[in-house]
Amino acid sequence: MPRKQEPTANPGVELPADQVPAEGLKEEYAVLAEEVRRHRFAYYNENAPVVSDAEFDELFRRLEQLEALHPELVSNDSPTQEVGGDVSSAFAPVEHLQRMYSLEDVFSLDELDVWIKRAAAGIEGQRPGSSISWLTELKIDGLAVSLLYRNGDLVRAATRGDGTTGEDITHNVLTIASIPQKLAGGDHPAEVEVRGEVFFPTKEFARLNETMVEAGKAPFANPRNAAAGSLRQKDPALTAQRPLDMFVHGIGAREGLIAESQSETYGLLKQWGLPVSPYFKVLENYQAVLEFIEHHGDHRHDLFHEIDGIVVKVDSFALQRSLGHTSRVPRWAVAFKYPPEEVNTKLLDIRVNVGRTGRVTPYGIMDPVKVAGSTVEMATLHNQEVVKAKGVLIGDTVVLRKAGDVIPEIVGPVVSLRDGSEREFVMPSRCPSCNTALAPAKEGDVDIRCPNARSCPSQLRERVFHLAGRGGFDIEALGWEAAIALTQPAEPTPPPLTSEAELFNLTPEDLAGVRIMRDKKSKGVVTGQELVPYFYNKGTEKKPSEPTANTRKLFTELEKARSQPLWRVLVALSIRHVGPTASRALAGAFGSMERIRSATQEELANVDGVGPTIGLALVEWFAEDWHRDIVDAWAAAGVRMADEIDESMPRTLEGLTVVVTGSLEGYSRDEAKEAIIQRGGKAAGSVSKKTDYVVAGENAGTKLEKAEALGLTVLDEEGFTRLLAEGPE
Ligand code: NAD
Repeated sequence: MPRKQEPTANPGVELPADQVPAEGLKEEYAVLAEEVRRHRFAYYNENAPVVSDAEFDELFRRLEQLEALHPELVSNDSPTQEVGGDVSSAFAPVEHLQRMYSLEDVFSLDELDVWIKRAAAGIEGQRPGSSISWLTELKIDGLAVSLLYRNGDLVRAATRGDGTTGEDITHNVLTIASIPQKLAGGDHPAEVEVRGEVFFPTKEFARLNETMVEAGKAPFANPRNAAAGSLRQKDPALTAQRPLDMFVHGIGAREGLIAESQSETYGLLKQWGLPVSPYFKVLENYQAVLEFIEHHGDHRHDLFHEIDGIVVKVDSFALQRSLGHTSRVPRWAVAFKYPPEEVNTKLLDIRVNVGRTGRVTPYGIMDPVKVAGSTVEMATLHNQEVVKAKGVLIGDTVVLRKAGDVIPEIVGPVVSLRDGSEREFVMPSRCPSCNTALAPAKEGDVDIRCPNARSCPSQLRERVFHLAGRGGFDIEALGWEAAIALTQPAEPTPPPLTSEAELFNLTPEDLAGVRIMRDKKSKGVVTGQELVPYFYNKGTEKKPSEPTANTRKLFTELEKARSQPLWRVLVALSIRHVGPTASRALAGAFGSMERIRSATQEELANVDGVGPTIGLALVEWFAEDWHRDIVDAWAAAGVRMADEIDESMPRTLEGLTVVVTGSLEGYSRDEAKEAIIQRGGKAAGSVSKKTDYVVAGENAGTKLEKAEALGLTVLDEEGFTRLLAEGPE
């Protein structure tokens, strides 16, 4: 969410008369400053923020903006003039030998550009002709800590506190394995303050929250809070149980340390056995800085700790000194913040969904919020154990997280905002769709299921949606809403489909009068719900209602679907574990539905790419009468149940395994796989030592890299065409 460039505080500006603050403005300012202080306290002292970081940053920005417009409002104790965080009385206070600072934030590349130019101009003014190297590194989302080493021994560790005075957390820091208690080598300085970030490894976070909830405690909102909460424990034995880690990224007071630059210092810190992040780079130009930012934005989630941005520092100490500090931040460093991935929103309800296999999944309905580029209003909660483990109640303000392409996740509640009206979620005991009693498939399963697979409308809806999917019959006109309209239309219309067996017998007449409930919107905002006809248009007095264009398309596509290859029919049947890969293998090995149906588990399991689990799933599936009825009804309606073996097709790829990756001009992915199978080859999905050929099209990614690493034969599209025609010779 790049933001507009806004002015930063500049207390020295002379005010035009028309900008002298009115009383109302003073009050607005005081309220805002107080709000910022309150949030800082909740965040730093209680490790329990009430608003998301993005909301806090907005408030802070507004305060800076007000101060820039009305500098006479700025007092020395304004939050913009101080490093955030007080010192809790639970810990002994510690004076830092040299002050600890925060960082100036920028939220867009435009703002970064302005910052870089300003810093470069500042240096040019002080030391003309200097060339600047930018030390660029990850902004670790953790807790700032200062380590004091005397003659190589760790003698004290402290939090940042207000920058001057921190909290003594030496005993707790001693439990962190990656922090040396004694510096390695003999050439360490007499005294040095090492600054860095203690963080909580991302992978361990969910487990920690589960144990917190089990123990009846509030879960942490994010790994940063978990790090702060774990480190600021009175009992170091508790800290020792948490997998904390640290990266160091600077020094404070020093005696006997000779280094010219930040990067040179990192080299020394590493030599002394301190943990230095491997990801920093010294870059000579702005373009390279931008590339660094872009690269780590794309790979933000490949790291084992969280980052919330990139820090750009002037590398040379002499040039750093020429820029100096404000009371809050150094002028020689800046933090570029990535768009936020966490926001707070209200959890309005928890409902359950019944899936294709009958699994009942709770999901949260939230006040719609924008996060990481999309508006989110629903998030799965997986099962009742997860709801319990997250400790969320209906009505809670919750932290919602959307990391990259990963589906949105409800992280946990903001407990301090509860007012007593929240209520616990109770998993229903009967299916919300067909009222059948719910039960785990087998004893001890966490998931519960609706056992009414055959006629539960929700399960049918999911199967119908699935069979029309790209890997199934590929019926574009049968999407999610159409699946609802076919199986769960609004009352009182009866559903046109009560079993997928009837799909190919549908007539346009069956669909007349079907209506569904749809959100009513005005200017993009949902204002209620309305009943709308789905398959037919409304019609007028003169012109009777008739099938819509999409409905006509549906019938054309159903006609085409009758001659889809066998593997797609298999996928469409929703047999457990039988996806496109297994279906292709089965179709290739048996050629007809009849032969698959009469095969034993062993015969099925012997097919390359199938195995005993899928074999058993198939045998069990065909053992049900109503399943066989689907196959029979489809066959009777003209669905092709056998692949015609084209005798004229040369078996050029007999016994060979080919992987296609990237996009080809002359073949879709499915066509390429089909062409391989028709010629007796195996179209595999992943590259291994057993792969004979890898066909790499445009934008081939990791599969191509792996093929090259394994020394496999890689073909381009032309090579592929020849391979199909002529075989390996
Ligand atoms: P900051 O976190 O934006 O930046 C300063 C800190 O970054 C430094 O103190 C340092 O410890 C750390 N850092 C991480 N990697 C670094 C690196 N490679 N080099 C140098 N420093 C590095 O500023 P802040 O003042 O510590 O805190 C502000 C942050 O805390 C903001 O993200 C803000 O949203 C959040 N906050 C949130 C709330 C809330 O209520 N949600 C309240 C207060 C603060």
